[in-house]
Amino acid sequence: MEFEIQANGQPLHADARAALLAGPGFGRIFTDHMISARWTVDSGWHEARLQPYAPIVLDPAAAVLHYSQSVFEGLKAYRQPDGGVALFRPGRNAARMSASCRRLALPELPEDDFVSACELLVREDAAWVPKGDGESLYLRPLMFADEISLMVHPSDAVRFLIIASPAGRYFPGELRPISLWLTQDYVRATPGGTGAAKCGGNYAASLVPQREAVANGCDQVVFVDAVEHRWVDELAGSNIFFVLDDATVVTPELSGAILPGVTRDAVLQLAREAGMNVQERLVDIDEWREGARSGRITEVFAGGTAAVITPISTLKWPGGQVTAGDGNAGPVTLALRTALMDLQYGRKPDPHGWRRRVL
Ligand SMILES: *Cc1c(COP(=O)(O)O)cnc(C)c1O
Repeated sequence: MEFEIQANGQPLHADARAALLAGPGFGRIFTDHMISARWTVDSGWHEARLQPYAPIVLDPAAAVLHYSQSVFEGLKAYRQPDGGVALFRPGRNAARMSASCRRLALPELPEDDFVSACELLVREDAAWVPKGDGESLYLRPLMFADEISLMVHPSDAVRFLIIASPAGRYFPGELRPISLWLTQDYVRATPGGTGAAKCGGNYAASLVPQREAVANGCDQVVFVDAVEHRWVDELAGSNIFFVLDDATVVTPELSGAILPGVTRDAVLQLAREAGMNVQERLVDIDEWREGARSGRITEVFAGGTAAVITPISTLKWPGGQVTAGDGNAGPVTLALRTALMDLQYGRKPDPHGWRRRVL
């Protein structure tokens, strides 16, 4: 795919950009450009370009507004010690977007074009990649159905976009462990459903239980499986990991209802290389409750691109709660977090070839 370049003739002034980058937050400010491409049944992919960031026009009958035929991705560009910029395993996001597209009956974007488009946008807006500790430029590729039709069928017209947003640390302040609410009434994903696809509908389904979590004094909701209400799945937007007292890292196996995280894959590999045992298997919610009480489970943490690695202290449910370890971030959590960030930020050699230099 050839991306036509339509540079923004009025990019934000450097002083105004610097002011925004002083406190980027998460997902609130966007760069000068975006990627856009269209697909139709008749013409395939076309009108691929880099263009000024701008609102889009949607017909009120655009299929995505009604039937949610859409997928998205999330990856980051990291400032390197020499001032350059690198993406982290963008090919993984490309492949996952293809898998999500297959589940949502959307056309696949060639994976090389996905990566090239990410690189093009980062290169053009490199001045927007922040330099602070733990900061990055978050890329949000998305694809949605924009056929003008209320017919329920796979859309014959689709739009692909990538926007970019400078990001501070996801949970601001120092690394504070989060607490989780075990929802009793809601599930995120079902066998045969869309849990393994990165689609907005999964997030829509998580909002009420997430609100319930906050109402119960917790930071985030954690979901168990939809059939037996017993096996730990994941959080609304990140995977979950347990550290056992014999140097084992356990994460729920990919059941079809869990999102296969790029962070998840990297964490498991880094844990293996650090000499730990790694298990992908079912985790019973009672194993968590009893393990945290007995000391068998020493640490729990969440992993995902946005939040990196976040320690989890307390699990709470109606009428009870349990805290793993002493409630602070544990040594294995911190070591894995440092190892991962050292790779992302170019502070250590990259034996896996996970960094993709853009500049
Ligand atoms: C995106 C996402 C993750 C984390 O995936 P990463 O590739 O590590 O960012 C985990 N769970 C859900 C539900 C997600 O949407």
